[in-house]
Amino acid sequence: MFLPDQHIVIIGNGIAGATLAINLRKQSNCSITLISAESATHFSRPALMYVYMGHMRYQDIVPYADWFWQAQSINLLHDKVEQIDFSKKQLVLQQRTPVRYDKLVLATGSGLAGTHWLKANIKGVQGFVTLQDLELMQQQTQHIKHAVIVGGGLIGIEMAEMLRSKKIAVTMLVRDRLFWRSNLPEQEADLITRHIQEHGIEIRFEEELAEIIADKNRQVQRIKTVAGQEIPCEFVGIATGVKPAVDFLRSSELELDRGILVNDYFETSLPGVYAIGDCAQFSNPKPGIPALEQLWYTGRAHAETLAFTLAGTRKKYERGPWFNSAKFLDIEYQTYGFVPNNWPDAYDSLYWQHPTQPKAIRLFYEKETALLKGINLLGIRYRHDLCQHWFTQNYTLHQVMPELKAANFDPEFFKKYEPELLSLYFSQFPDQKEKTEKYNWWQLRKRLKWAFTT
Ligand SMILES: Cc1cc2nc3c(=O)[nH]c(=O)nc-3n(C[C@H](O)[C@H](O)[C@H](O)COP(=O)(O)OP(=O)(O)OC[C@H]3O[C@@H](n4cnc5c(N)ncnc54)[C@H](O)[C@@H]3O)c2cc1C
Repeated sequence: MFLPDQHIVIIGNGIAGATLAINLRKQSNCSITLISAESATHFSRPALMYVYMGHMRYQDIVPYADWFWQAQSINLLHDKVEQIDFSKKQLVLQQRTPVRYDKLVLATGSGLAGTHWLKANIKGVQGFVTLQDLELMQQQTQHIKHAVIVGGGLIGIEMAEMLRSKKIAVTMLVRDRLFWRSNLPEQEADLITRHIQEHGIEIRFEEELAEIIADKNRQVQRIKTVAGQEIPCEFVGIATGVKPAVDFLRSSELELDRGILVNDYFETSLPGVYAIGDCAQFSNPKPGIPALEQLWYTGRAHAETLAFTLAGTRKKYERGPWFNSAKFLDIEYQTYGFVPNNWPDAYDSLYWQHPTQPKAIRLFYEKETALLKGINLLGIRYRHDLCQHWFTQNYTLHQVMPELKAANFDPEFFKKYEPELLSLYFSQFPDQKEKTEKYNWWQLRKRLKWAFTT
C-alpha cells in the first residue's frame, strides 16, 4: 500500500473516474474523494437509452450499490466543481466548502456539442448525453407525434430508436449522402441506411438544421432546413456530437486544446494534475491515432493505467489495436483496427454481404503485403480476443482466413455463410485455395485453445 497520507480527488464519476477510484483503492490506502455533478453514484451512460425504452430501470444501470463505496472508503460528493485554484490545490464547489487535494484527476467527460441550438430555450429541443437529458426527454416526448433528429451519428440513431419505441414518427437530418458515410465505406453505409429506413425512420440526406420555430408558448412547432424545407414537429433532438467538458477550465493555467492536454502517462501541464477519459486529449498521438478517445472502454483503460501511477508505479498507456462497437437499431456493429470510408489503390478489401439479411463482413488489407488493417462487422459478432490477437500479431489476410471459424460466436454463421466468404476469397486469391482448405482444424483448435475454452 502506498501514499496513505495523500488525498486524491477525482472530478467525474463516469466510467473513467469510477474505475480509477476502484482500482486505486485496490492498490493504495490513500484517501479518495470522487466528486460528480450529474449523479450521486456512477451509472452506465451507454445504457441510458434502455431506461427510456422501458427495458431497464435506472437502478439496473447502476453497477455498484451505495454501500459498496462506503465499504471501499471512497468518499462520494454529489456537487459541481465551479473553479480550481491550482496554486492552492483547492476546488471551489457549488454547494459545499472548498476541498483540498494532494493529487487531482480530471475525468469530466463530454458535454453536448451544438448547444447554441438550446440557447433560445425552446421547449422540446434537447440533446441526449446526461441523466438529466434522459429525464427531460421522458417528459418532453409524452403524447407527441413527430420528432426531428439533427445529426446522423451514433447518438442520433439511438434517439431515433428510442422515439420509435414509443411509436413517434422520426425524421433525421443527415449531412452525408448516406447514413454515417463519413465513417463507413459505401456498402456498409448503404446497408445501414436501408435498415434504418425499413424501421420507419425518414432520413433527409445532405440536409442541415437552419432554424427552429416555436409557437407562442415557446414550444417547438416546426423546423426549417438549410435547403428551405419545413418539417412540423413537437420535439427536436440535437445529436451533432459531443465535446470535452472543459469549459470551466478555460480561464485557468491548465493547457487545453479541444480537451485537456496529456502525455502517455495522463499527466497534464501542471504537476500532480492528471486527466483521463473523454476529456483528455493526447498531445502527441502517433499518426493515424486519434488524439481524443471518447469511448466507454478507452475511458476504463485510461483509468486502469493511471491507477498504477497514482499508487506509486508510473505506467505508460499502451493502446491495443483500435476497437469500437455500436448498435444501429438491431444491427450490431464491431470494428477492429482501421477501415477507412474510402481508400487509395494500395489497399483493398474482401467484402461479403448477406443477400437478404443485414449482415456483412469486410476484411481490409494492404495489397502488397496482404497485411490485415481492419475489420468491419455488421450483424455478426467476432471474438474480441481472437481479433485483437490477429492485429497484435500482424496477421495477413491469408493467415486470418483459415482461422475465421474460430472467430465466430455463432455456430450458425459458419455453417451458412463461411463457404460464401471463402469462395469469394478463393475467387480473388485462387493460389490460396489449396493451402486454406488443407488447414488443419484440429491443430488450430489446439493452438488457439484459449479461443475455444473461454
Ligand atoms: C447516449 C450515449 C451513448 C453512448 N454509447 C456508447 C457506446 O455504446 N459505446 C461506447 O464505447 N461509448 C458510448 N458512449 C460514449 C461513452 O459513454 C463515453 O465515452 C464515456 O461515458 C466517457 O466516460 P468518462 O468517464 O470520460 O466521462 P462521463 O461519462 O461523461 O462522466 C463525466 C462526469 O463528470 C461530471 N463532471 C463534469 N464536469 C464536472 C464538474 N465541473 N464538477 C463536477 N462534476 C463534473 C459529469 O457530470 C459526468 O457525470 C455513449 C455516450 C452517450 C452520450
